[in-house]
Amino acid sequence: MGKITIDRGLARRQIPQLNEASVPGRRGWKLDGASADRAALQNAAAADRSLFADTAPALPELSELDVVRHFTQLSGLNHSVDNGFYPLGSCTMKFNPRINESVAALDEFTGLHPLTEAENCQGILALLHELEEKLCLLLGYSRFSLQPAAGAQGEYVGLIVIRAWHEDRGDHERREILIPDSAHGTNPASAAAAGFDVVVLPSDEDGCLRAETVRKAAGPRTAGLMLTNPNTLGLFEHEVQEIAAAVHEAGGLVYYDGANANAIIGRVRPGDMGFDVCHLNLHKTFSTPHGGGGPGAGPVGVRAGLEDFLPGPFVTRREDGSYAWEEPAKSAGPVHAWYGNSLVLLKALAYIRMLGGAGCREASGMAVLNANYVAHELAAYWQLAKPGPVMHEAVFSGKKLRDRTGLLTLDVAKRLIDYGIHPPTVYFPLIVPEALMVEPTETESLETLDHFIAVMRQIHDEMEENPDLLREAPQHAAISRPDETQAARRPVLTWLQQERGDS
Ligand SMILES: *Cc1c(COP(=O)(O)O)cnc(C)c1O
Repeated sequence: MGKITIDRGLARRQIPQLNEASVPGRRGWKLDGASADRAALQNAAAADRSLFADTAPALPELSELDVVRHFTQLSGLNHSVDNGFYPLGSCTMKFNPRINESVAALDEFTGLHPLTEAENCQGILALLHELEEKLCLLLGYSRFSLQPAAGAQGEYVGLIVIRAWHEDRGDHERREILIPDSAHGTNPASAAAAGFDVVVLPSDEDGCLRAETVRKAAGPRTAGLMLTNPNTLGLFEHEVQEIAAAVHEAGGLVYYDGANANAIIGRVRPGDMGFDVCHLNLHKTFSTPHGGGGPGAGPVGVRAGLEDFLPGPFVTRREDGSYAWEEPAKSAGPVHAWYGNSLVLLKALAYIRMLGGAGCREASGMAVLNANYVAHELAAYWQLAKPGPVMHEAVFSGKKLRDRTGLLTLDVAKRLIDYGIHPPTVYFPLIVPEALMVEPTETESLETLDHFIAVMRQIHDEMEENPDLLREAPQHAAISRPDETQAARRPVLTWLQQERGDS
């Protein structure tokens, strides 16, 4: 195979700030003088004059075309799933089919007011009810609350449901949540936010949690255990049912972090594994664009007996076939208005409907196959953190390479940017030194995976032959490598600060 050339698509461009591009007197659009003045006079009459500024604000003066070009060029500096491979482990950056967007953008949905009477919005209620039914079927639960707006908020909801259940039984001493050391950082954070004490359990040599470890730690103070499965090493926990049983024996409940459900959908169900409560990341497992903070959806499912504690309202189907809102009897409390991010929910439903049951099963199979292919093809270059096979993602360790060449996983990540590939998740999970966590997802073609593998092997060669290429990477992106210490300690956040030379 020939040498792979650097991607110059993101070559450094000088895009001036709007303030720098400003030309005095240039206008894009101007209000008709008379009406603008009339509006200004009306507002001024009602306003407190002491609040008026003496001088006009220093706004940039530009034409409409200047502004359009500015933002279009800036958007071209972003890397996204739509313009390149994005194997970000744990975050599942898969393709988001456009049909989802068309569905969610229908005026009939975007124009709805949340206070619309149930009888006047039966359509969306029927769809939300259908989504809940499908999630119950796919994950093995009795009911789902669609309200949480993110995975982490789903965790929080799951935990307050667990607490409400214990309190309802008059069991007030259960203050502890058990969490393995391989967990996503949001797990201990959510437990702390919900007011619990976190007990960290060590995972075993093979990266999995032992039921024996759980048995020793669980007791009368245990409210529950949170387990991610497949775990953050991309491994399916070997003793998952024994672990659930050990917590139940101690009187606690078990929580399934289902953010990685794209590895299991259509194959096994957390409800069948013995988990009482589970959250999903619809924005990972069932597509919908995410990153940059949202919007997301982290519905929470519970087994029979826990439904009453979920946040309300639910959408319930009446006997006559119509849909109504219903408040759960002992709700732990709402965490978002109404049903949460309803348009994200509709996108997820469109995705599930498009795939159907068999398609969901095939998708999880492809996610696992793709990850194992990458793991197999790169294992001779980067050491697998734990022996495979893996599930939907493969975690490598760059420790041996670091010890030999002095180059870090961070350098590899930066060099990938030069090839137009978004770096995988790095330095997570924390239990793997120099971790590199690759999640190719099911939507990538064999050609894309082969290209990524070839690039990674070439970077491996560069580590020996021309290490400066890695140390100085990225050379071909919008910005080169920032000084991360200075960026944290002395961030330059605004144009004005820069101009005045403030820190
Ligand atoms: C992404 C993720 C979360 C958090 O989900 P957000 O939507 O980002 O809040 C929690 N657990 C695991 C395992 C995840 O991968």
